Amino acid sequence: MQEWVSVYLSDSSICCQTEGAMAQLGLEELERRQRELKAQLSNVHDMRRGSLVARYRKCGKPSCCCADEQHAGHGPSLSLTWQEGGKTRTKIIPAEAVERTQAQIAEFRRFRRVSRELVEISERICDARLEGEPAEAQATAKKGGSKKSSGSRSSRRSRR
Ligand SMILES: [Zn+2]
Repeated sequence: MQEWVSVYLSDSSICCQTEGAMAQLGLEELERRQRELKAQLSNVHDMRRGSLVARYRKCGKPSCCCADEQHAGHGPSLSLTWQEGGKTRTKIIPAEAVERTQAQIAEFRRFRRVSRELVEISERICDARLEGEPAEAQATAKKGGSKKSSGSRSSRRSRR
């Protein structure tokens, strides 16, 4: 039962700073990453928000072992806490559901991480297309590759 104690994960500890790494990627790499992330999102399992918190309780009976100062108290009993509509909500998680609940919490965090990255990647792809042409040039190079030396040099673009 003691392994439960290792459970607390602070919700605010999640912070994804992937920008540095992503800034280096070209459009094709961004699109590849976007496909990977979409595939990950299509495989989402049961999930829930919040953190598990363990509580120990002194029952108050003077004859009980928990009356000893060194005794942590009965428990742990675990509850899930999360924020909803500006309020902190709590739900008791029975011992037999703790492992499952941890997996559901982890799944939500994975989902959130993947969705955030997907949004970032997507924005970069949008930017790359807006700024246009370095990315466009790669695509046309691929498509028009078979037609080389047909005499037309009009596809050449000025570099910025
Ligand atoms: Zn007691």
